[in-house]
Amino acid sequence: MHFHVITIFPDIFDSYLNESIIGRAIKNKLISVKFYNPRDYIKGNKSNYKPVDDKPYGGGPGMVMKAEPILKTVESVLRKISTPSRKRATPQEGNKKILIINFIPSAEKFTTTYAKNISKKYTDVILICGRYEGIDARVDKILKTKKLSIGDYVLTGGEIPAMILVDCVSRQIEGVLGNFDSREEERVSSSEVYTRPEVLKYPSSHKASKGQVKIKTYRVPKVLLSGNHKDIEEWKKGSSK
Ligand code: SAM
Repeated sequence: MHFHVITIFPDIFDSYLNESIIGRAIKNKLISVKFYNPRDYIKGNKSNYKPVDDKPYGGGPGMVMKAEPILKTVESVLRKISTPSRKRATPQEGNKKILIINFIPSAEKFTTTYAKNISKKYTDVILICGRYEGIDARVDKILKTKKLSIGDYVLTGGEIPAMILVDCVSRQIEGVLGNFDSREEERVSSSEVYTRPEVLKYPSSHKASKGQVKIKTYRVPKVLLSGNHKDIEEWKKGSSK
């Protein structure tokens, strides 16, 4: 799976993509994540300033990302990922299956089910990260983008949504997680989890000795110590509601 991220702030992704499971997936070539800055695809003005935004038609606060820099960037990405012999590449040509996503707060919600579909159907995903008031709407019409939201809140840009999608789709690719069947959607999973010690005393006696604080005892639910898998599964189903 190849992710192609279109962003004017590519550095935002550095530390996240270098660490842990996603970092290892990139090292092991199970996924790749490449960045394309729209400023690199347009000519600068006299002082070599490369504006990628302009005032909105109809008025209102904030700026709008211009269509041309995004379209030029996407065209270049499509050329790179499509068969080299083709002069002008379009999505779904050749043996590449390409999905273009634009992040919009009010759009259809991104889900694990959708992430699973992406991992099965596509070889390349182009992620367009909006900033300011968003991207000129003609980009969606021309590129027939899939519009996705990651939740009912507004962020300052599409970079965090892109990271969320890369993370969630990647864990659907075999080999990315140590144990593929450990994906939550493949088992009964609970958000209420416990590990050692079996009995936790809090606050510590050291703190308690200093003041009037009473030490309380917190135990792991008995069923989890029972070894009865059926009962444990039932408990997990109930605890995650
Ligand atoms: N004025 C825009 C609107 O009402 O849709 C919101 C612009 S927001 C400040 C800037 C960019 O952040 C958006 O273009 C989008 O790419 C991204 N963004 C912010 N919140 C998001 C969310 N919940 N889901 C997906 N993308 C989001």
